[in-house]
Amino acid sequence: MIFNVAQLMKSPVGTSLTADILEENVQLDEELKVIGPIAGRARMRRINQGLLVDGWVDLTLELSCTRCLKQFEQPMHVPFEERFYPTIDVITGAPLPPAEEEDVFPIDDHHQIDLTEAIRQQVLLNIPMVTLCKEDCTGLCSQCGHDLNLGPCDCKPDEVDERFSVLNTLLQNGLQA
Ligand SMILES: [Zn+2]
Ligand SMILES: [Zn+2]
Repeated sequence: MIFNVAQLMKSPVGTSLTADILEENVQLDEELKVIGPIAGRARMRRINQGLLVDGWVDLTLELSCTRCLKQFEQPMHVPFEERFYPTIDVITGAPLPPAEEEDVFPIDDHHQIDLTEAIRQQVLLNIPMVTLCKEDCTGLCSQCGHDLNLGPCDCKPDEVDERFSVLNTLLQNGLQA
């Protein structure tokens, strides 16, 4: 997801251009499996110190279900907006001091920006804490691990028994004391 922005960096503030994003076989992160292409659109706008880049990508991630642990495909629409600041002056080629602001991405010394890292961060932020293969996933049996989406297992519900046995122990201890 690399774009050359030399021309845009020479343009007056406010100039903007848009570009399509289409990447096959992207590995965003060791922990993230992307299925199929990443497609989207980016708008790059010349601002005082550099570029403001916003847009969106559509992609499908392979996630594992929090309840039943099964892998499933999750389509996502991920908007992004980031600033990119030059590392060298586009006219003179002289190196520029590093940006004082945080959360700024570099325009490299070939006047290129790479959206991969910005998009990776936004994708990570957009993954919910709880990922479910389906909204009503019933998960796994806590005793035998059977996938309860496939039907019930033969285990007896044990939570009630456990509570009773704790109560029994307390009662017995109470009687002995
Ligand atoms: Zn599930
Ligand atoms: Zn069971």
